Amino acid sequence: MSTLGKLLETYYREHPVLLPWRVDPTPYHVWISEVMLQQTRVETVRSYYLDFLEAFPTLDSFASAEEDRYLKQWEGLGYYSRVRNMHCTALELQKTHGGAFPSTFEELSKLPGIGPYTASAIASIAFHQKEVAVDGNLVRVASRYFATPWNPKSEKDKGLVRLRLKEEMDIDPSVFNQALMDIGRTICLPHGAPLCGECPLKQHCVAHKRNEELFYPQASLSKPKKEENRTIVLIECQGKTYLEKRPEKGLLASLYQPLNLEGHLNEEEVIAYLSDMGLPALSIEDLGPSKHVFSHVIWHMKGYLVRVKESNKGMLFVGEKERKERYSIPSAFLAYLP
Ligand code: SF4
Repeated sequence: MSTLGKLLETYYREHPVLLPWRVDPTPYHVWISEVMLQQTRVETVRSYYLDFLEAFPTLDSFASAEEDRYLKQWEGLGYYSRVRNMHCTALELQKTHGGAFPSTFEELSKLPGIGPYTASAIASIAFHQKEVAVDGNLVRVASRYFATPWNPKSEKDKGLVRLRLKEEMDIDPSVFNQALMDIGRTICLPHGAPLCGECPLKQHCVAHKRNEELFYPQASLSKPKKEENRTIVLIECQGKTYLEKRPEKGLLASLYQPLNLEGHLNEEEVIAYLSDMGLPALSIEDLGPSKHVFSHVIWHMKGYLVRVKESNKGMLFVGEKERKERYSIPSAFLAYLP
């Protein structure tokens, strides 16, 4: 048995992490959990995972769900394109595979919405295929363990890590990957803070032996995010709030939001805008600033609450209870619509 395989197997056996998706790792369960875990912390994913499975216990139940329903289920997790892509995959699986997941990396990768990481995770954890699920965490651990300056954001380097780790994978691939995931998430931490004293790999980790943990992985220069000013207007009429559906494509596609205008408008400009919409204002209240950071853009928001006497026909106004139960509202608006 390889040294790394042996260390990982012992660690996984002696430090079991109780995660709901590890109880019954069917392909459907592994898929949902792994997609949710991309960009989201384990602690947050736990309850979302359980709620999602309660709403959609099977792939068929998810595939037949309406868009608004599965977006609502995803509300607060962010990166909504993940659940939209999952839904396309579910439909494709029904169409081409009788609603079942194929078991190999190659077949899984051909499905729309399943990238190399997710395909490897499903193949290795649910089907015990010899595949390495390489994400940024795994690149970091491998980069330090082998003292090689791989870059977690480089697809080429991810491929190199996959090949290198495959050479060491002589235990159950499910155990190998999940032990590495646990170490990457809880011990071999990013931003210069690896907890090497607690690490099962420390005696064989080349970077640790050389006292060079902080030299790895290779740092990547990230592009500065675009910054936008927005004005968010809560239009209230007889206890109900105006909501509009965002466009089908682009940022936060098909989700609901209050009136969301480009730029920073002052009170007079907001009142004039609403008047043009046929909504004369009774009062206006400044709700203060708020900021939301997306993956590629930052919104600097200014908020107002405007009370109007009458709503216009055809405009959607909903009460708080209905809004919370039925409409998916991105967390970007939480400061104004809790
Ligand atoms: S010994 Fe330290 S640097 Fe090496 S894998 Fe463990 S935590 Fe990471």
